[in-house]
Amino acid sequence: MQAITNYVDGMMTEVSDAEHYEVLVIGGGMVGAAIACALGQQQIKVAVFDRAQPEHFQPDQLPDLRVSALSFASEQLLKNLGAWQYMEQMRMCPYRRMAVWEKLHLPGGRELDKRPNQTLFDASEINHDQLGFIVENRVTQLSLLKTLEQLDTVDLYCPASIETMSFSEEGSKITLADGREFTANLVIGADGAQSKVRENAGIRLDYRDYQQQCLVATVEIEGGEQDITWQAFTETGPESFLPLPDTNGKSYASIVWYNLPENISRLMKLSDQEFVNELTRTFPKELPGITRLHERGFFPLARRHALEYYKSGVVLAGDAAHTINPLAGQGVNLGFQDVASLAEVLIEAHRAGEQLGSLEVLERYEKARRQGNQLMMNTMDAFYHAFSNDIKPLKMVRNIALGLAGATKPAVKEVMKYAMGISGSKMSLKEKR
Ligand SMILES: Cc1cc2nc3c(=O)[nH]c(=O)nc-3n(C[C@H](O)[C@H](O)[C@H](O)COP(=O)(O)OP(=O)(O)OC[C@H]3O[C@@H](n4cnc5c(N)ncnc54)[C@H](O)[C@@H]3O)c2cc1C
Repeated sequence: MQAITNYVDGMMTEVSDAEHYEVLVIGGGMVGAAIACALGQQQIKVAVFDRAQPEHFQPDQLPDLRVSALSFASEQLLKNLGAWQYMEQMRMCPYRRMAVWEKLHLPGGRELDKRPNQTLFDASEINHDQLGFIVENRVTQLSLLKTLEQLDTVDLYCPASIETMSFSEEGSKITLADGREFTANLVIGADGAQSKVRENAGIRLDYRDYQQQCLVATVEIEGGEQDITWQAFTETGPESFLPLPDTNGKSYASIVWYNLPENISRLMKLSDQEFVNELTRTFPKELPGITRLHERGFFPLARRHALEYYKSGVVLAGDAAHTINPLAGQGVNLGFQDVASLAEVLIEAHRAGEQLGSLEVLERYEKARRQGNQLMMNTMDAFYHAFSNDIKPLKMVRNIALGLAGATKPAVKEVMKYAMGISGSKMSLKEKR
């Protein structure tokens, strides 16, 4: 505990005994827990605050609704942090192939059975065992929390309700609803898309609503655990099928169905059996039989990009800094790239005896990340806009492009490497443990 001084109404006043850390992380989700692990493992004293405790993992419980496709680069980061072993002990589903095409219709409106414009990505073509893993978000979060529990440099306060926050280079401070106060050189906002840290720091957003919403469903399927994801582009949004790990001898898949809000609202109102029937009618014939709906929910989609990633004494990472269209499953993969860059910058600054909350230090992180995040956002937007219309010449061009991509192996390999985070990203922290 350390007594701190505060400057109130022009008077220096002694304030309460606050608990002091080098870094306070607000949000112990996938991104916040990962950054806390990375810093704690380098002897930086960290406190993590989350408003909600994730439910314990039960091996026999059905897969959660919220899952993410984790890239090769994210896998490497999670291995370097020591969390991957716990994720493997819980559950995950590798996917080796990914089929992508645009739905084509005959003049009468009937869907074309053949898919000349399909591209099949196959991990074996770039000598990898898989393209990535579908993992429940809670499995990743719990594994990271378990890793940081073992660090005596990191304390977790959860559930914690934060009442006030203030940030400055001289020292940032948060107060909890129960009156406890915490100070640090730096506060990291990893509190997701609706970030209170971002709001309190007065950081504004570039915000754009997408016209589409996204329905996510967990369904039971026949035919055993799958190793392929399917994604069809349509004018109203992509329709995706993601494999999930077998649980209790049964097989599951995650359906991610983008559409206009009125169509999503209709799909949400269908009975379970009607929903399964509609899925079977709409999704490809090659899919294993869908026997049962377990859970469904929907998410409005918005693109957000913080105009600044930092101010004195505060910095943003993950969804607090950016949210993108999830059509290619890149959101938390970008968040993990933020973690790698921010940890590298802070660890180096710590070793050099610099103030972690200084503008000079935090600018290095923004420089390392803004361009890559922006590029991925723009790429997702280009997909979204290119496919969300029925302009005939454009449709022709994009189908020729998809067909050509499918036929051109080097192009396919480059796309796979980009999506897996093998090219164009930097995941370090390797030698730092
Ligand atoms: C439908 C859908 C599908 C997606 N699929 C993928 C995918 O396949 N691959 C992928 O990479 N990404 C995907 N994403 C994106 C991914 O889910 C997010 O990028 C990721 O969850 C962001 O992690 P985060 O830790 O930054 O934020 P969050 O997961 O939002 O975590 C924030 C944490 O902060 C806590 N918190 C919030 N406010 C406070 C507060 N005031 N005080 C204390 N704690 C607080 C929360 O309890 C939570 O634990 C998808 C998103 C959606 C909507």
